Amino acid sequence: MIWNETVECMDRQRLRDLQSVRLKRVVERVYHNCEPYRKRMQEAGVSPSDINGIEDIHKLPFTSKQDLRDYYPYGLLSSPLSEIVRIHASSGTTGKPIVVGLTRNDLSVWSEVGARCLTAFGLGKNDTVQVAYGYGLFTGGLGAHAAVENIGGTVIPISSGNTQKQIMMMRDLGAKALACTPSYAMYLAEAMEASGYPREDFQLRVGVFGAEPWTEEMRRTIEAKLNIKAYDIYGLTEIMGPGVGYECECQHGTHLNEDHFFPEIVDPDTGEPLPEGSHGELVFTTLTKEGMPLIRFRTHDLTALHYEKCACGRTLVRMDKIMGRCDDMLIVRGVNVFPSQIESVLCEAEEFEPHFFITVDRVNNTDTFEVKVEVKPEYYKDDMKGMLELKKSITHKIQNVIGIMPDVKLVEPRSIERSEGKVKRVLDKRVFKN
Ligand code: ADP
Ligand code: ZN
Repeated sequence: MIWNETVECMDRQRLRDLQSVRLKRVVERVYHNCEPYRKRMQEAGVSPSDINGIEDIHKLPFTSKQDLRDYYPYGLLSSPLSEIVRIHASSGTTGKPIVVGLTRNDLSVWSEVGARCLTAFGLGKNDTVQVAYGYGLFTGGLGAHAAVENIGGTVIPISSGNTQKQIMMMRDLGAKALACTPSYAMYLAEAMEASGYPREDFQLRVGVFGAEPWTEEMRRTIEAKLNIKAYDIYGLTEIMGPGVGYECECQHGTHLNEDHFFPEIVDPDTGEPLPEGSHGELVFTTLTKEGMPLIRFRTHDLTALHYEKCACGRTLVRMDKIMGRCDDMLIVRGVNVFPSQIESVLCEAEEFEPHFFITVDRVNNTDTFEVKVEVKPEYYKDDMKGMLELKKSITHKIQNVIGIMPDVKLVEPRSIERSEGKVKRVLDKRVFKN
């Protein structure tokens, strides 16, 4: 099912024309209404009259997460505060949070793109959706909420946490879809199993999962545990929260809502645009935002874009699954390591749960790389020899994938903390030593 066929299946040339008109408009807007943008464009020697179409986008300077911190809280608004009806913020890792302001029209665009996602997941007015993303400054809860209301579905705005109540409501209210982070879905799956309710008590069929990277292996694990079909939804606070991108029934990449968010892929080190299909850093320009439009915003997310039409009929570009951000990547003993690589190995190994925790440190000038992995109850034994064998085999499997030898610590079932929102799986102690 397609929510907005006119746009989602629009001929590429027409889409580019639309993007061109919108780009010109948004560049005018920031130039005239937002001092930092005007200054930066002047420094780069570009004015709105240099932007005649979407192909001129490369002339514009980038915007970074640091800019959002430097101009915290309202310095990058292009609308007066009287037009701003909602604030959201993302945690950010250090220092000040990143704050965004949305106008009434921004909210309506958000619920439009959200409706496209849910419709692609096969949801409609007869369906009940349990929104277990956090409500509040985080965009997940309210973003998914508006999408459900827009398609005319029934929303259960339960927010994250309170796992026992989640299960009771899901069962009693017959939720067909669950919207939350993939890591919370894993946690809920375990808790549902432990609750003793038979699967037939639940109507659950669809997962609306995003807000953090998750592997194909994790998808299969969650699908099997919950007996559902799991779809990816992508978003980020700075651009719009959930609804920037979504999977269709083909699950052949994440379609991006390019009529509102123009994507580019650049070299993460040099910022140079990369040829179609290359893997690199995703950059977005918001084409219709009023409150806080962002021009060429560097997301730090690493992926590739594919422009051939999808079998679902949509022409919107398809993005590869995001395996991490440039800032998630660990460099250990000179080797690049993504936590998602460990996740894939654990999902494939039947003796382990996909719960793990990485601690990196530097001792005597050498990087240490410890991975705590959780053994499934049926494999957790007092037999020392058996456990050592298990440890050896998983160490070997991880080493094969990441290229360095991990120091694996097997831990008891359920001893790694479960996440109700975005999971945190890495502690890099080296950052405190520099
Ligand atoms: P924070 O930067 O504090 O995590 P956000 O909530 O804005 O704040 O998070 C957005 C980021 O979450 C994205 O840039 C991306 O790294 C990650 N993300 C969101 N959705 C997905 C998804 N479906 N797949 C992979 N990563 C995702
Ligand atoms: Zn498709």
